Amino acid sequence: MPQKKVRYFDVKYHIEKLIKKNGGWVNCHAHIDRAYTVTPENFHLYHSPLSVKWGLVDELKRNSTVNDVYDRMAFAIENMLQQGVTILGTFIDVDEVIRDKAIKAADRVREKYKKNIRIKFINQVLKGVLEPTARKWFDVGAEFVDIIGGLPGKDKGKEDKHLDVLLSTAKKMKKMVHVHVDQLNTASEKETELLVKKTLEHDMQGKVAGIHGISIAAHPKAYREKLYKSMKDAGVMMVSCPTAWIDNRRSEELAPTHNAITPVDEMVPAGVTVALGVDNICDIYVPHIDGDMWTELRLLMAAARFTDIRELVNIATANGRKALGLQ
Ligand SMILES: [Zn+2]
Repeated sequence: MPQKKVRYFDVKYHIEKLIKKNGGWVNCHAHIDRAYTVTPENFHLYHSPLSVKWGLVDELKRNSTVNDVYDRMAFAIENMLQQGVTILGTFIDVDEVIRDKAIKAADRVREKYKKNIRIKFINQVLKGVLEPTARKWFDVGAEFVDIIGGLPGKDKGKEDKHLDVLLSTAKKMKKMVHVHVDQLNTASEKETELLVKKTLEHDMQGKVAGIHGISIAAHPKAYREKLYKSMKDAGVMMVSCPTAWIDNRRSEELAPTHNAITPVDEMVPAGVTVALGVDNICDIYVPHIDGDMWTELRLLMAAARFTDIRELVNIATANGRKALGLQ
């Protein structure tokens, strides 16, 4: 007997068709130089606090050859190509431990895939940017990359100085800035607010994007609304990587009820440009992220309860191009 055809609105099929029509997926955030480095032996390190993980990857970085880093990057790029990702923005570590090995691998990988995918490299600063040796490697990284990357949490207590170094360097080099901010889902963090303030101080409106912005949702509504307006006015964008922080730890801190995700449902209507990324792929930071763009967009829809299809397509395409300076 022939099967009765079931008709329903296949959201994934519909959205992916629109994404293809809009130029394909844009993955705005990853760390492909460390992708696929989780092993049965180091898997348990996943439970370490974020600030401890910044140092835990030292051994891996020290022991990796340029070829190792290249292989990891190439494998991640093949993953992106299979999904129809046309543009990728990825951080690469540049510091006193990895030295210039990721830079060398990045050069080779960009050349190898230049016909298939556009890649924008961004420097990750796991040693901060203030100590003299850290600063030296920040300068080396800044010279190579397309976009200046930051991690103010690494220079805790001196986040403003950290941002001053990033923004003044970017301004001098005429580059954009991507900064990891507000990652810990707590109202004690106000890094996005500081990023907006510093963006204005350095006259870098429209050239700055935050990555994550999870903690924003832990603040009261009046704070959030004021922050969104200031982000819109300063042209500060936000890249959401939904799976990266949905595993946020349980805590007894009281806050407005929310899921641990960039508050996309509030940011987009407030006029903030939101883009999409996958963040860490199969490493000790997040072993269960496999780099699948649909998985990220679907989780964004669900966890932020955001169902504006036109805006979801923008988040996965045009907004990503804007956040990477390709518009
Ligand atoms: Zn990241």
